Amino acid sequence: MKALIDPQKCTVCGVCEDVCPVGAISVGETAATVSDECTLCGMCVDTCEFGAISLPQVGTGPKDDLSAYRGVWVFAEWRRGTIHRVSYELLSAARKLADKKGVPCAAVLLGSDLDAAAPSLLEYGADTVYVIDHPNLADFTDEAYANSLVALVREKRPEILLAGATTMGRSFIPRVAALLQTGLTADCTDLDISEEGLLLQTRPAFGGNVMATIVCPNSRPQMATVRPRVMRPEKDARNGRIEKVTLPEEVFQTRVEVLQVIPEEDVTAKLSEAEVIISGGRGLQKAENFHLVEELAQLLKGAVGASRSAVEEGWAPPSHQVGQTGQTVAPTLYMAVGISGAIQHIVGMQGSKVIVAVNKDPEAPIFDVASCGVVADLFEFVPAFIQRLKREG
Ligand SMILES: Cc1cc2nc3c(=O)[nH]c(=O)nc-3n(C[C@H](O)[C@H](O)[C@H](O)COP(=O)(O)OP(=O)(O)OC[C@H]3O[C@@H](n4cnc5c(N)ncnc54)[C@H](O)[C@@H]3O)c2cc1C
Repeated sequence: MKALIDPQKCTVCGVCEDVCPVGAISVGETAATVSDECTLCGMCVDTCEFGAISLPQVGTGPKDDLSAYRGVWVFAEWRRGTIHRVSYELLSAARKLADKKGVPCAAVLLGSDLDAAAPSLLEYGADTVYVIDHPNLADFTDEAYANSLVALVREKRPEILLAGATTMGRSFIPRVAALLQTGLTADCTDLDISEEGLLLQTRPAFGGNVMATIVCPNSRPQMATVRPRVMRPEKDARNGRIEKVTLPEEVFQTRVEVLQVIPEEDVTAKLSEAEVIISGGRGLQKAENFHLVEELAQLLKGAVGASRSAVEEGWAPPSHQVGQTGQTVAPTLYMAVGISGAIQHIVGMQGSKVIVAVNKDPEAPIFDVASCGVVADLFEFVPAFIQRLKREG
């Protein structure tokens, strides 16, 4: 796709050619032309005083009636008998968005043998739980999951579709958005409805230094993913119903054959479910010192987290990273040891109930979000704290 030139309006003035940052526009004898290099940045559109340039409408386009799309949906993530917690979190958020718009709220459950799983979604506010139950959905594959969800969206036309930014969501939800030719905002931290009724999708941008609110005015559904633990699950049962959906058999066909599923220890789930997390940062100075964090976590029956710097140093695996490009966590107790509190770290843990920070620099930004701050050398404080915990059992 590229910017569109209206030759009737183009005066070959050349301003668009000068302003195009990627050199995609060349002005000919009668009108400007746009090459495939175009990135749809829109700078030419803004600068053309003759209104000769426009951007193509993505997705639904003028032929599609946006008002035909109604309702707020959540993709409910199911894996071998269990619904992921993020689905309840999103359903609670979806319920509020739907109430604000005065439209129905629904969950879509994909998998196999789902009879036991579906009712719990009604407790979190779904008016309808659409169940797509098929043996080919027993194990997750991008193709079958995406095709099933797309087929249902095309039939029922929800205006908003939310999903968890989990490994599964990150894997197949972009494919769903691409097939539906609509936009997708990943890793939202807040969702709301604008006065015009559009989904306001807020997420960190530019390295976490600004919060951007994104809208998707021209295509449907408006799609967003949200990380686990960002929203709170709240029970809100309505008189909802479960609707089993039948789709054509070809929807479930996939070019991928799952030969074997080897479960691995899910550190991600462990971290996001933990009630206590002890995280270490660059202040620990070297790999050998990271054992202080691990020992403390063990004594407090918690999980081990890490800042990105600690991960980059190789002191902790990437799956333990907390923050914008790591996990979002919200435990009862989050202890940050030798972590400065960069915004990219804060966005991943600020939902924690109690935050304890240990840092020798009293000006460290981590103290701005800490409920309890310990200004101390961690190499003195942490071993003493460990001894005390051991003494007091
Ligand atoms: C796009 C992008 C995404 C990012 N995503 C993430 C992310 O997901 N997670 C993340 O954590 N970061 C992320 N970062 C990196 C982030 O900006 C910071 O660089 C990082 O969080 C810093 O890690 P740190 O606090 O461990 O290290 P530092 O900033 O180096 O802080 C170390 C702290 O330890 C203290 N200290 C040193 N010695 C001692 C001692 N003896 N006793 C007590 N305290 C001591 C210091 O006072 C200092 O405050 C991202 C950055 C970008 C640009």
